[in-house]
Amino acid sequence: MRLTQLDKKISNCTLCPRLTKHCKKTAKEKRKSYMDWKYWGKPVPNFGDYKGRILIVGLAPAAHGANRTGRMFTGDRSGDWLYRALHEAGFANQSEAVSSKDGLILKDALITAVAHCAPPLNKPTTKEIQNCEAFLVETIEKMKNLRCFLALGGIAWNATFRFLKSQNLWNSKIPKFGHAEIVKLDDGRFVIGSYHPSQQNTFTGRLTKEMLDNVFKKIRCQAYSADA
Ligand code: SF4
Repeated sequence: MRLTQLDKKISNCTLCPRLTKHCKKTAKEKRKSYMDWKYWGKPVPNFGDYKGRILIVGLAPAAHGANRTGRMFTGDRSGDWLYRALHEAGFANQSEAVSSKDGLILKDALITAVAHCAPPLNKPTTKEIQNCEAFLVETIEKMKNLRCFLALGGIAWNATFRFLKSQNLWNSKIPKFGHAEIVKLDDGRFVIGSYHPSQQNTFTGRLTKEMLDNVFKKIRCQAYSADA
């Protein structure tokens, strides 16, 4: 996996002591089933196509998923759900995401997170999210063809709108997060929400495969309508 300068900067960041410690500790202790893995154990860089039109904003790497493999949503159940849907919608060359060397390529889409380090209990603090927002800003600035922000969950939704507000691209109250809700921006771009494909949502049926596929159908329809 080739890293850009921004991705190298993200991977070397140690701004949040609690998260830096947690990533390293998890990498050292490991999960029983991954004892033969050399964990990544540090901030996980963005993954995908910086020239893409779609930016997928997740929450944070999973301790034994991306914090192990070093690639966003790789090696855990959430990733199984997300990459299946991306493949189905034509944004990925395969649905399998098990390691950074599995051949997965994203087309026209990039995946980032509001916190690039795995947090204890999957919950970054407000301060940690604020610390990491500079990387979200840089990521978005690099994506010159960006048309669609896909926010996975309410925290990602709010972070996306905070960015838009800071850039004067959104001047009203942050809209309420909702699954498959689309908010159009004045410059022609749009934000769409989706429940996060966490096990908590997929096991309980709050998010089904059809619901996730529907989000990507809407993205295709909206983001590509100008090309038709
Ligand atoms: S969460 Fe972001 S800002 Fe904090 S240490 Fe990790 S990469 Fe740096």
